[in-house]
Amino acid sequence: MLLKDKVAIITGATRGIGRAIAKRFAQEGCHIAFCGRTRNENMIQVEEELQNLGVKAKGYVADVSNYDSAQAFVAETLKDFGHLDILINNAGITDDAALKRMTEAQWDNVINVNLKSVFCMTKAVQPVLWKQGSGSIVNISSVVGLAGNYNQANYAASKAGIIGLSKAAAKEFGARNIRVNVVAPGFIVTEMTGDIPEQLKTYWQTRIPLRRPGTPEDVANACLYYASELGSYNTGDVMHLCGGMEDA
Ligand code: NAP
Repeated sequence: MLLKDKVAIITGATRGIGRAIAKRFAQEGCHIAFCGRTRNENMIQVEEELQNLGVKAKGYVADVSNYDSAQAFVAETLKDFGHLDILINNAGITDDAALKRMTEAQWDNVINVNLKSVFCMTKAVQPVLWKQGSGSIVNISSVVGLAGNYNQANYAASKAGIIGLSKAAAKEFGARNIRVNVVAPGFIVTEMTGDIPEQLKTYWQTRIPLRRPGTPEDVANACLYYASELGSYNTGDVMHLCGGMEDA
């Protein structure tokens, strides 16, 4: 098992990619603390699904775009789990509009949830990982952060910001054996992409050399590489996980 008795915090694991990461890590023996914004049916289901794999798992209510909420989430995790090895910053949203119509609220909301959250969570775990002299942080960006996209200036900026933040953190934390890497997925089938029109999905799929969209499990495997000893000499990386899409 690649993560036996490690403890991972995964933000936004009530569904989609975060849920798949939690499941994949649990299959490797990792105990999981995860969060969503409310204690809903999904959160309870994920807890049960992970516990059935034989690991400790608990869902927390946290808004990771809020500094105090992120601090409380990490403090509660440490109280419940005793230690911490891995942070996956996965929580994210979209709120699309053409720039000429995008409101300040749309901009602030997406930047706060997608980018400020990574700052908040990194700040919350840093003292713990620093003291123990080990840790792995994986941040979920997007190919949109590398290439831009129509109607997604807020999302593209947030995901590009994650890359800059991660590269800076990798430099600052490297001497303490804390690795920071980025996974930048392309088109992954989840609820987030569920309401994209069929026509656009077809168009995107013709641009993907592997001729299929990605799955949450594809992303989970990439995170497993960086979170485990398999990726022990990787830091400051950006993995393009997009089936070879040309402009990513
Ligand atoms: P999703 O299905 O919409 O899930 C988003 C998760 O984030 C949910 O668990 C949600 O929990 C949580 N969340 C949202 N805001 C939060 C907040 N303020 N605090 C705590 N949790 C919050 O999204 P997904 O498709 O799995 O995407 C996951 C990540 O991958 C995102 O960062 C996304 O940008 C990135 N990504 C996705 C794709 C894709 O094609 N799907 C491609 C590239 C990158 P609750 O709703 O329960 O609160």
